Amino acid sequence: MANIEILPLGAGQDVGRSCVVVTLAGKRIMFDCGMHMGYNDSRRFPDFSFLIPHAAGESAMGASGEVGASGAGVGAAGEAGANDSARETAVDFTGLIDAVVITHFHLDHCGGLVYFTEMCGYDGPIYMTTPTKAVAPILLEDFRKIMVERHGMRKFFTSADIKNCMKKVIPVALHETVHVDESLSLKAYYAGHVLGAAMFLASAGGSSVLYTGDYNMTPDRHLGAAWVDLCKPTVLITESTYATTIRDSKRAREGDFLQQVHEAVARGGKVLIPVFALGRAQELCILLDTYWERMGLGGIPIYFSAGLTAKANMYYKLFIPWTNQKIKESFVRRNMFEFAHISEFDRSYADSPGPCVLFATPGMLHAGTSLAVFKKWAHSPKNLVILPGYCVKGTVGAKLLAGETKALEVDASTVIDVKMQVSALSFSAHADAKGILQLISQCQPESVVLVHGERRKMNFLKDKIRSSFNLPAYNPPNGETLTLTTTPHLVIDLESDLVAASLSSKRKRLPSYAAANGDNDGDNDDDAAPLPLAAPLATKRAKLLDRPAIPLSGVLLVDRDSSGAVGDARLLSASSALQEMGMVEVGMTVAVDVHVADADLAAVAAHLAALPSLASELNMTHDPPNRLVSASTSLVISIPPDNPSKFVFAWHYRDDALARRALTAVHALAPAAQAAL
Ligand SMILES: [Zn+2]
Repeated sequence: MANIEILPLGAGQDVGRSCVVVTLAGKRIMFDCGMHMGYNDSRRFPDFSFLIPHAAGESAMGASGEVGASGAGVGAAGEAGANDSARETAVDFTGLIDAVVITHFHLDHCGGLVYFTEMCGYDGPIYMTTPTKAVAPILLEDFRKIMVERHGMRKFFTSADIKNCMKKVIPVALHETVHVDESLSLKAYYAGHVLGAAMFLASAGGSSVLYTGDYNMTPDRHLGAAWVDLCKPTVLITESTYATTIRDSKRAREGDFLQQVHEAVARGGKVLIPVFALGRAQELCILLDTYWERMGLGGIPIYFSAGLTAKANMYYKLFIPWTNQKIKESFVRRNMFEFAHISEFDRSYADSPGPCVLFATPGMLHAGTSLAVFKKWAHSPKNLVILPGYCVKGTVGAKLLAGETKALEVDASTVIDVKMQVSALSFSAHADAKGILQLISQCQPESVVLVHGERRKMNFLKDKIRSSFNLPAYNPPNGETLTLTTTPHLVIDLESDLVAASLSSKRKRLPSYAAANGDNDGDNDDDAAPLPLAAPLATKRAKLLDRPAIPLSGVLLVDRDSSGAVGDARLLSASSALQEMGMVEVGMTVAVDVHVADADLAAVAAHLAALPSLASELNMTHDPPNRLVSASTSLVISIPPDNPSKFVFAWHYRDDALARRALTAVHALAPAAQAAL
């Protein structure tokens, strides 16, 4: 039995600062190292103190109250707090974690990485896909600027820290198996969430964990759908952002979006669409640009937050294999990411008269351009804000989605009454409930752990998983270790000579075996009819179980690697195993005296020959004048020349079981016989 431990440092029964630490066959992997957009205090980063053995349980930094209530809300220049404590910086995180894996460039999945490596001192390997490695530092730098330059945050990581951190990153290609060390390996699968997003399968010691990060099971305008092979992980750790949602058709949502934007600009309003720099932004830009062309709306400007557009387009071009088939094909004719009607935004445009559309970062309206423009446009009922993605608790976006428009606290110094129209259209590239269940049937895990979701929704999905798949499902909160006991699978290589010997000995020596198992035609062959390939799986399995098994005995050799984890296992014949281990075989012969009144060799021979199961296995022949010798075993029955009132049974220890059966049979022949060793 082996245990898998799952400890969420963030995203346990919550969305934001994803960070799940998994212990697998003694290896500890940190999946994602994100930040929480809703907090500006110590809860911004994952609570790494949960990793310190003696501190486990006493720390619960993430468990305290709401952002607004504690006064440390968005925009407040709170210090990093307890996470920066000397206790943490003195901890050897490199010794505690074997590998860090980042699934994609969104800050709620990678925003804590630089803090963990450059400020907490983790110096071990970091894995992510090539596009993630290229894009993450841009978003991290953007985030750093907002925090340090606009919010005056001190003790924050620097541009040099970001560079140093990214230098340690080992890029991973899709479906490539990367060996972290001799027992731990990683494999990336396409997640379809944003450019370069991947799910990761970690395997060690015969167990495996598939961690999804964010994923999308339906292809969109610029990315393909998530895909994973039948990898049968011991544990599937899946996001559950939309655990209770079955979304309406994408076409209907897109129609809604275009209609709302069109109506707003037609009445002379301004439309604000807060987006992540990469991802939904490109999706919605493609949609709107095409619509503008079709409807002849070229006179109304569409803007995208300055600076990021060009960079984003460059990365899409660079990593075109990561986009969907249609984009790949059309790229030859027209660059899908160079838009006819979309130009870069300058902050001064926010005050220009007349209608316009603005895509601005960040997506949750918690800082930066989108929040600054929102403050300017929120007063007019002609204007519209469309929130196309998920907004974490504590952000202005989340407050708007919750219907808070009266006296909305935008930041520490601003409270406004929102008059502009607010619309929520889910274009998030997350799997909905149907998609999550689809992934479960695609990879067939032994158990499911939900992270990156709200507790109430998780509970609903857990029940659904239990009833649909009869699988155990869990959703541990932050700081709580979930321990799953697993039965490790051990693949055993069989020596071909051993298999051949066992097959032939079965034919020769176990005539009753096949009969007892339904093969009663007497020829003892493995003649079960071949199974038609089209037979349903259940039938095949039943038939396989009906087939006679072939007893196989040998010596099991199991290797261990330097860490003590179980490695290759082989079943060998005794002589091969001895040779392999450089040992010498020592034979042992057993001799038993059977005292009788009159030792009659012919009577014993006749008696043994009359017992069908023994006769063919022993195949005794007379060796005149006073010995019976087994042709197929080492058993010899003899009468000593000087003592005609006893038999001597002698055999090699390997034939012990059979020889003792012969001995018992002879006792039955002469009940008064006495055996003595
Ligand atoms: Zn994401």
